[in-house]
Amino acid sequence: MYGLDADTIKYLYELVFCNKFEVCMYMNIKNNILYVNKSTINEGEELLEKGSIRGLCRYKYKYEKYICHTHPYTTRSYPSLEDILKVIKHKLLIDVSIISTRWGIWTLVNKNKNFKESDININKINEYINKLGYLENSLGYKENIYVKDISPYLTNIKDICNKLSKYSFLHIKFVEWNRLQLNEDVICD
Ligand SMILES: [Zn+2]
Repeated sequence: MYGLDADTIKYLYELVFCNKFEVCMYMNIKNNILYVNKSTINEGEELLEKGSIRGLCRYKYKYEKYICHTHPYTTRSYPSLEDILKVIKHKLLIDVSIISTRWGIWTLVNKNKNFKESDININKINEYINKLGYLENSLGYKENIYVKDISPYLTNIKDICNKLSKYSFLHIKFVEWNRLQLNEDVICD
């Protein structure tokens, strides 16, 4: 599994809570630790999608091995179907996709490049993504409330991660902000 550099964790937290647009970038790796490459950042544009503001961003170049994007506080706290399918579809290019969200950081790792795309169960993937949606709705998504302590829901989320991993042939992992140990307070300007 991959680790994240401490400055990268703080930076990804700031991007989620201080910037209302989705941001995409590439990452570099050293000794299995991932770092954001800030020179590759692209910010999404504001657009209206299903009544909520979502700024979708595009990667500057083609997909690379280590990619990263944010789901800012205005959006959902878990990977979208599109996020998962993107890694599957570009499995020869993408090794790791990091997604920074209100709940914490998701890591999608493509370990097995030999699976057949026809083996993927998109309906099941969708079903478990929807379960995350119901969970978030029950926590107050519409009010844009950031739930600081999601530990009571972790067993549920981890169980869904296992199901998503099984049906997508990816390794999908989630770590909440509390456990990512931000060593400084993050204050938005
Ligand atoms: Zn996404």
